[in-house]
Amino acid sequence: MRAMLLDAPRTPLRAADVPTPRPAPGQLLLRVHACAVCRTDLHVVDGELPPAKSPVIPGHQIVGSVVEVGGDGGSAGATATTGSSLAMAGAGSGPTRKRWKVGDRVGVPWLGSTCGTCRFCAGGRENLCDEPRFTGYQLDGGFAEFCAADARFCFSIPDGYGDLEAAPLLCAGLIGYRSLVMAGDARRLGLYGFGAAAHILLQVARHQGRRVFAFTRAGDDAGQAFARSLGAEWAGASDVRPPEELDAAIVLAPVGALVPAALRSVAKGGVVVCGGIHMSEIPAFPYELLWGERVLRSVANLTRRDAEDFLALAPRIPVRTQVTPFALEAANEALDSLRRGKHQGAAVLVVDAELARWTQRPASASPRLCVKVSHSPHAAGSNFKLQKVKFQISNFARV
Ligand SMILES: [Zn+2]
Ligand SMILES: [Zn+2]
Repeated sequence: MRAMLLDAPRTPLRAADVPTPRPAPGQLLLRVHACAVCRTDLHVVDGELPPAKSPVIPGHQIVGSVVEVGGDGGSAGATATTGSSLAMAGAGSGPTRKRWKVGDRVGVPWLGSTCGTCRFCAGGRENLCDEPRFTGYQLDGGFAEFCAADARFCFSIPDGYGDLEAAPLLCAGLIGYRSLVMAGDARRLGLYGFGAAAHILLQVARHQGRRVFAFTRAGDDAGQAFARSLGAEWAGASDVRPPEELDAAIVLAPVGALVPAALRSVAKGGVVVCGGIHMSEIPAFPYELLWGERVLRSVANLTRRDAEDFLALAPRIPVRTQVTPFALEAANEALDSLRRGKHQGAAVLVVDAELARWTQRPASASPRLCVKVSHSPHAAGSNFKLQKVKFQISNFARV
């Protein structure tokens, strides 16, 4: 299969032909349609997270279709997550083959498996598992034509979403949603770093009746206009104080200096949530920024309950994601685009241009029209007569 491999940190991904994985018991083999690119992929590629597997296929926002269901019996990992009906469906009450069948459309997130036995797993906090395995980090991910994933950590993709638009829901959406939950019932919400996660979160927050204040890099007029177009009441540079105090702020950019900036903007009793897995060093700040029962916390990974809740909520709003498509072999270009903050919304690798569906193809994505031709040949000896030709627009994809 075609795959993009990371051999070592701080080197470009390498296009390679590698053996297609076989699904172990409890795993699904997926044909990958699309895989969104996350800032965490950048942290892996840029060596800001320690290498965990080499070479590794990155990518943890995978949308694909099941081509083979591994036998039942379960691979290493959790047996259940307290209180999660998904976990029960996946692990407790039904074997893999009862839950999934060939052809099902499936999403795979960052949390690839957990130990199932540590005190965190046992206590419903599997996001903090002592021995987690993450997709596209310890486990090969979705920058490839096929991927084998633990069935208990896979999710159905809601109808109404194309593969490309659904892909960013799987991390930008899920971990963003967990961050939003940790922000409590804050009415005035600040979002620091207006990338893929923020453009999803803003829609959820507006749906919940919150007032949103968006912070971008200084001079990012396009980003600020994008935030306003999605319902932000105010948008400005991250070093500028908002027009009024905030009740909570979520820091989504990996920039430590944003933490004191966000603390400075929240009111007494407010909370600042750091949603990223990595951040540059946080500069020293005076205690008075934390005083007044302000809370500073991080959010780590996700639980299957988060995924269950968010993937049920997203289509009801409905959350609409803006995506910039890249071919699989252009993964380095997509990562670089994210590194430089060059696109709005999310970058998505179109792994299989024939299968990957759009919800609605934007005019800006230069299309390649794939036309499927079916015909009913009338064979008379060696004379081959084409009787009927049907054209079916099967797909649009950027080339
Ligand atoms: Zn565990
Ligand atoms: Zn991610």
